[in-house]
Amino acid sequence: MVRRDYYAILGVARNAGMDEIKRAYRTSALKHHPDRNPDDPEAERRFKEVVEAYETLSDPESRKRYDAMGPFYRPDGRPPTPEDVNELLSRTFGGWFKRKPGKGKAEDLRHEVTVSLLEVALGCDRTVDVPRQIRCSRCQGEGGEPGGGWKSCDDCKGTGKVQTPRWFRTACPRCDGSGRVLVRPCERCGGEGRHGTVERIKVKVPRGVGSGQKLRIKDKGDHPRGGGPVGDLVISVVIAPHPLFQRRGSDLLCDLPLTFVEATGGAEVPVPTLEGGTVIVVPPGTGSGKVLRLAGRGLPRLKGDERGDLHLKVQIEVPVHLTPEQRDALARFAARLDSANHPRRQAWDQARRDAHREWEEHRTRGGSTP
Ligand SMILES: [Zn+2]
Ligand SMILES: [Zn+2]
Repeated sequence: MVRRDYYAILGVARNAGMDEIKRAYRTSALKHHPDRNPDDPEAERRFKEVVEAYETLSDPESRKRYDAMGPFYRPDGRPPTPEDVNELLSRTFGGWFKRKPGKGKAEDLRHEVTVSLLEVALGCDRTVDVPRQIRCSRCQGEGGEPGGGWKSCDDCKGTGKVQTPRWFRTACPRCDGSGRVLVRPCERCGGEGRHGTVERIKVKVPRGVGSGQKLRIKDKGDHPRGGGPVGDLVISVVIAPHPLFQRRGSDLLCDLPLTFVEATGGAEVPVPTLEGGTVIVVPPGTGSGKVLRLAGRGLPRLKGDERGDLHLKVQIEVPVHLTPEQRDALARFAARLDSANHPRRQAWDQARRDAHREWEEHRTRGGSTP
């Protein structure tokens, strides 16, 4: 990794004395200290950079070595790697100085919205309160107090460039090539050029949205430090569980408990749908596990006007808590049943008896027991 110029990091001139270096170090270290910038990895990186710059420049021996080697200097004293050299050359010739100093990278923000299945069916608008960093309007994102926050850099006479014949770098170390130095930070943003706010943002959740689907809202992320492209707000959709319906793609699944009387004799049964409900006709002799399908009563598909189906899965509920009279009635009913009333049970009983007979025959023929 090629290092930034140590003098620029501390904001001191190349010929700065030890006292000036110490003062600059104390100011910068305090500003970027992780304790004062919790959860800000950028500040932590800058803090380490400040410490590294100070450790090198405060020791006369290593400062001499740094002045001689410039960007190839390594604190551990090892020679530069070929990668270091390549990186430096590509920066020097590859437009390093065309880049506006301090330009940040777009920062996306992440947020979650929870919607109900009905809202999936109909689509909905949501408002979310998003804490985000916006460009400071007091200083127009520049970081300096309006009217005198910045002054032209003395070292380079505002050009941002210096002649250093020893190495390629020609950016002024004091102003890091920008040609100006901050003398009074903006009162609203403290020189950051941006500050926190909570913005109420409208989110359009489309019909048929999937669980975990991401909705991207352009330019509602953070404004980066020092200007540059604004990030997006990325909304993850969470679908709240429904007490009756399960989702499978655009289809809905629902249990349908029937009494054994309804299942036996057939019945008209009210069932739930997302739009309140309807009545279905259960045909006589409907068995447990049978699925009744209501076409077009599922969720809309993301594309097109079609909707999925609602699948109702029959579960016959065995009556419990019978009174003596009910048991009596059931016994009288059972006495009138014959085998034709339960064809599956009849076939099963037949198979059971056959299997038993086969075993008996095998044994009487004197076969071995397994
Ligand atoms: Zn400001
Ligand atoms: Zn300068």
